[in-house]
Formats: sequence, C-alpha cells, structure tokens
Amino acid sequence: MSAGQQHADVIVVGAGIAGLAAARALLAAGRRVVVLEASDRVGGRLRSVDGLDLGATWFWANEPRVHRLAAELGLATHPQHIAGDAVMHAPGGARRMAGNPMDAPCMRVGGGTQALAGAVARELGDAVRLRHAVSEISADDDGVDAVCDTAMFRASHLILAVPPALAAARIRFFPALPDELRRLAEATPVWMGPVVKVVVRYARPFWRDAGLAGSGMSHEGPLREVHDMSGPGGDPAALFGFAMPGPGEPPPAPGPVLAQLMDMFGPEAGRPSGVHIQDWRAEEHVSPPGVEHLGAYGLFGHPAYSRPAMGGRLHWASTETAPEFAGHIEGALAAADRAVMAVNDQISAST
Ligand SMILES: Cc1cc2nc3c(=O)[nH]c(=O)nc-3n(C[C@H](O)[C@H](O)[C@H](O)COP(=O)(O)OP(=O)(O)OC[C@H]3O[C@@H](n4cnc5c(N)ncnc54)[C@H](O)[C@@H]3O)c2cc1C
Repeated sequence: MSAGQQHADVIVVGAGIAGLAAARALLAAGRRVVVLEASDRVGGRLRSVDGLDLGATWFWANEPRVHRLAAELGLATHPQHIAGDAVMHAPGGARRMAGNPMDAPCMRVGGGTQALAGAVARELGDAVRLRHAVSEISADDDGVDAVCDTAMFRASHLILAVPPALAAARIRFFPALPDELRRLAEATPVWMGPVVKVVVRYARPFWRDAGLAGSGMSHEGPLREVHDMSGPGGDPAALFGFAMPGPGEPPPAPGPVLAQLMDMFGPEAGRPSGVHIQDWRAEEHVSPPGVEHLGAYGLFGHPAYSRPAMGGRLHWASTETAPEFAGHIEGALAAADRAVMAVNDQISAST
C-alpha cells in the first residue's frame, strides 16, 4: 500500500451507463465507491450533442431497466417518430414504400440518451473522476489496485465496465488473466464500435410534409439505413443514418451523405443547418485497434463474464458481458445489476 493511494470499497472502471448504474446501486447499498473514467465526459457510447444522439438513441417496451432508470431520474421520454412511408434507395434512384417497415415503435430520452448518464453522474458527485484512464489492475489476497497516470486506488472489489476487447488491449493485469479469459475478452466484439453514425440537422422536419417517415434503407450508401432523429414535435429536426466503412476506409464525407439524402427525401435535404459525423472506430476509449475485425457476436454474455476473475475481485460489467439484452443500454444496466449483486454478496459474506 503506497502513501498516495486512495481507498474505496469498490472501484468502478468506466463511466458509461453500466459503470454509472453500478456505482449508483453500490452507493445506495452504503458502499464507498470511486468511478474512474478515462475521457473528459461521462456516458461513453451515450453521447448527445445539441440534443441529438451520436451514440445510442432508442429503448424498447420490453426493456424495464431503462424505463425505470429514466423514471427514477425524472427524465422526460418520448416516442420515436415512425409515422409515414419509408424510402428504398437502390441503383437507379429512390422508391417510396407503402408504410414504414424500417422502424418499430420505441422510446427516446428527451435531450438525448447522454442525459441518463449525466443525471446519474450528478447523483454520484465527486465519486466520478474524469481523465482517469486505468492502465493497470492488480489483485492480491487482500484487495485490488487500479493504477492511473496520476493516482492509485485500492478497494476490495473492482467492476470493469469497459468493453472486454478494449480492456484486453489497454489494461495490464497482475496476475495476468487466464489465457482462456484473455482470448475471450480479445475476441468479443464492441457493439457498434465499427460504425459511423451521421446526424444531419435541419430547420424543420420537411420530409413529414410529404408524408414520409424520414426512414429508409439503401443499397447505394454511404448510409445503409436512415431514421428520423427529431425531438418531440419535430424540434430539433434531424435525420440520422449508419455507415460501415471497410477496415482502413475513411468515414463518409458530408457531400456524398447529403447527395444520398437528396435522392431519398428531395432537394431540401441538401440544405442542412449542421452535419455531425461520429466515427466510433476512432474513439480510443470505446474501440480497440482493429475493432472492425471482431465479429464473434455469439460471445456476448459469455458465462465466463458472470464469474468474478482475479481471485473473485474483478467483476465484468459492460453491455457486451450482459446475460440479456447484450449490446443495448438495457444490457449495460443488466450487466451492472449482475456485478453489483456479486460484489454485495461477497462483501456481506466476508463481514
Ligand atoms: C452509434 C451507436 C448506436 C447505438 N444505438 C443504440 C440504441 O439505439 N439503443 C441501445 O439500447 N443501444 C444502442 N447502442 C449501444 C449502447 O450505446 C451501449 O450498449 C451502451 O451505451 C454501453 O454502455 P457501457 O457502459 O457498457 O459501455 P460504454 O458506453 O462504452 O462505457 C465505457 C466507458 O469506459 C470508459 N473507459 C474505457 N477505457 C477506460 C479505462 N482504461 N479507464 C477508465 N475508463 C475507461 C470509456 O470512456 C466509457 O466512458 C448504440 C451504440 C452506438 C455506438
């Protein structure tokens, strides 16, 4: 134990929604918690700019944890706009479809999903330490240490709420993780890590005038699918889409994106008030190098992630480790629940 070490009952690595929710539940159970977050903001893959989601957008009726969390935090939610016809974009032009097979009914968080993370982080106060990238985790018989550039932390348990493949690439473990677990972590894809999300903002949701839903599918690209991203009542007004460039290919430029949207929704689509291009491959605290090559999605929720590692001191909690809804916000919350239960059980058993 060194003089500069800070102590807690539980260290949470990562202030995405999994880490934040885990910390919130542990605090409610009376634990001393510190949340170490590498970047200068909370939320991870929940990222909203000017009320528009550059990461996760939707949650669904069968996802009780997200509904409950939004309600507990007092956040407004609203239905995704799905009324109108979708558009099929194919060689030779765009074709209006009858109805909207692209979108299922789902919900959105007012102001964007990052509000979920922001509201939890406000509850946690100075337990959340931004710009604290963990580079080393070591466990011994008495506890676990997390090492950042400028500080060291010690606790009896650690919840690792970052994508396993990223943890395997960026964090050194002492003792080393067993080979099988390390290989599993290295091979587990990062949900949406290979994706570029493009959000295009407009003065008004003009596509609705023509009875269009703002959604569509494209075999031409650069966006493979498009959806309405507008807020309640069409304010702010926006469309968004996903692109998946091949390994090493750059993200799509605004010009080709606007040309595609004009093909699909008419000339007004060429006059945006803003274009955001969010390349999740380039987010160093979400995607490890080569994220495009990870394709074994069957590893999501692998039983090994439900077993504490490092002598029972390390607990996995990113959405990829979730026993159910892996990949979704709901999955991140389910993984957090599982990790918190394991930590509380072990602490209770040892006192
Ligand atoms: C484009 C896109 C669209 C999506 N759409 C949806 C959707 O519509 N609905 C849905 O349910 N889900 C969606 N998702 C998935 C959803 O965003 C994730 O399931 C969820 O946000 C994952 O949360 P998490 O806490 O598990 O991980 P993350 O959000 O990745 O959080 C991990 C955190 O750990 C931090 N970190 C990383 N390394 C370190 C380190 N060494 N030390 C300290 N901190 C570290 C990161 O900075 C980050 O804050 C989408 C994701 C993307 C990218």
